[in-house]
Amino acid sequence: MIIFKNVTKVYDKKMVALNDVSFHIRPGEFVSLVGPSGAGKSTIIKMILTEDQPTKGKVIIGGIDLNTLKHYQVPHLRRKIGVVFQDFKLLPQKTIYENVAFAMEVNNQSQKEIEKTVPQLLELVGLEKKSDNLPQELSGGEKQRAAIARALAHQPKILLADEPTGNLDPVNAREIVRLLLKINKFGTTVVLATHNKDIVDAIRKRVIILDEGGIAADHTIGRYNLRMRGKKGRRRII
Ligand code: ADP
Repeated sequence: MIIFKNVTKVYDKKMVALNDVSFHIRPGEFVSLVGPSGAGKSTIIKMILTEDQPTKGKVIIGGIDLNTLKHYQVPHLRRKIGVVFQDFKLLPQKTIYENVAFAMEVNNQSQKEIEKTVPQLLELVGLEKKSDNLPQELSGGEKQRAAIARALAHQPKILLADEPTGNLDPVNAREIVRLLLKINKFGTTVVLATHNKDIVDAIRKRVIILDEGGIAADHTIGRYNLRMRGKKGRRRII
């Protein structure tokens, strides 16, 4: 469970990034955090990652209150969380296989475990044929799929995706969203931060809309966009 209870975050110079934000995310949920640039999406992601703490209020992840988090608890908590970003953050000198394997090595997993798990992860994201390629030899969509495989290397309970489709064309963006939905189906909680409303509407899962650091709406199911299309003004659902 991820719990934000009356969370306010004020950065230097009195910049209020979040203002009295409260929500619960249950295990296994798929939640999209939407809102324009500067709305506070990344601040929420950073807090769940334990990279930032609230100025006021409480963030509780898996029963642990981040305000009272001890140093020795940080690695334990981080192992529950995988993360992908807009710019992939793959290691350029390592192959796709090595990028995923490296994440497992730093997590002290055995060679045997690595040799078994990495091919499975690459198959899950559809990159089994690219395992020996370097990141620069992959398309944007493939790079993001590799980053997702790496984020899953330590079998996290929560996958955070911060604008994962920001550098992708619509076709690749939809592929990434389909992959996130598949991962969610296997039981992983997914939190997707994005400003891409079309993608969120197509997902048909819970949507939290942020605006200037506050929650503007929290919909159980993201609604379709109804738009006027064509000469006859036919409404089309996208
Ligand atoms: P989003 O991800 O929705 O674009 P952010 O969470 O990154 O929004 O930012 C929310 C607000 O907080 C913005 O106005 C941003 O400039 C500010 N902000 C974010 N991080 C910092 C920081 N480290 N120092 C100062 N201001 C910050």
